Amino acid sequence: MIEASDICKSFDGNKVLKGISFEVKKGEVVAIIGPSGSGKSTLLRCINLLEKIDSGKITVEDEIMVSTNEAGRAIYADRKSLRKIRLKIGLVFQNFNLFPHYSVLKNITEAPVSVAGINKEEANKIAHELLVKMGLEDKANAYPCNLSGGQCQRVAIARALALNPDVLFFDEPTSALDPELTLEVLKVIRKLAQEHMTMVVVTHEMNFAREVADRVIFMDNGVIVEEGTPEEVFSNPVNERTKLFIKGFE
Ligand code: ATP
Ligand code: MG
Repeated sequence: MIEASDICKSFDGNKVLKGISFEVKKGEVVAIIGPSGSGKSTLLRCINLLEKIDSGKITVEDEIMVSTNEAGRAIYADRKSLRKIRLKIGLVFQNFNLFPHYSVLKNITEAPVSVAGINKEEANKIAHELLVKMGLEDKANAYPCNLSGGQCQRVAIARALALNPDVLFFDEPTSALDPELTLEVLKVIRKLAQEHMTMVVVTHEMNFAREVADRVIFMDNGVIVEEGTPEEVFSNPVNERTKLFIKGFE
C-alpha cells in the first residue's frame, strides 16, 4: 500500500532521515518505536506531505508521490495527484489538533464537506456512526474544551476516519494522556486493528505495540536499526541499540 525507499531529509544541514526504506501492506499494523529525536514524526510527516523529502521515492497504492531524478533531486507528482494521495492517508497527532471553536460534529464533518465534497447530510450521518463507534454518541454538540483528553483523541480519530482513508497514521496518540485515558484510546485503536484497518502507529506504549502490531520498526538517529515481528524485536533483538532501548522500558 505504501512503499518508501531511501528517504533522506535534512533540516538546515542536519540529517534527520538518512535513507529510510519501509513498506506498509494492506491490513497491516506497523508500530514505530525509537528514542526522542530519532526522526519518527518527521518520517510520518514526510509521507503525509507535511514535509518535503530531499531525495528518495514514495508510492501510495502504486501511485508515485515523489521520486528522485538523476541529479538527486526529489520530484513530486502534480498537485491534483498529491491531493488524491493525501486523502488516502489519515493522520492523528499527539495533541489532537481539534478546532476549538467547532463542535465535535463540525470537527468531524468539516473536511468531508469542504475537502472531499460530501453533502452535509451524508457527512453528518457518517459522523454520527463514527461517534457511536468511538463511544461518544452523546458528545456531538459538545466543544473540545469540555471533553477529556481521551475523548478529544477519540474525536480526532473519528475525524480522520470520516475521510475514509486507506491507511491511518498515529503519532504518539496517547503520550499526552493519563494512563486511564490512554487505555480508552488504545482500546479504539485495537478495535480498528481487529477490523483490519491499515495503520502505522508511532508509540512509546511497548505493551500495546507488542500486542497489536504485526511488525515493529525501531528507529534511531535517522535510520531503521531493526525491524521484525513484535516477538523478534521485543524478545530477541539483534542490535545492541534496540536491546538498550527496550531494556529501558522494562
Ligand atoms: P519524539 O519521540 O521526541 O517525538 P521523533 O523521533 O518524532 O522524536 P522528530 O520530531 O522527527 O523526532 O525529530 C527528529 C530531528 O529533527 C530532531 O533533531 C528535531 O529537532 C529535528 N526537527 C524536526 N522537525 C524540525 C523542523 N521543522 N526544523 C528543524 N529541525 C527539525
Ligand atoms: Mg515525534
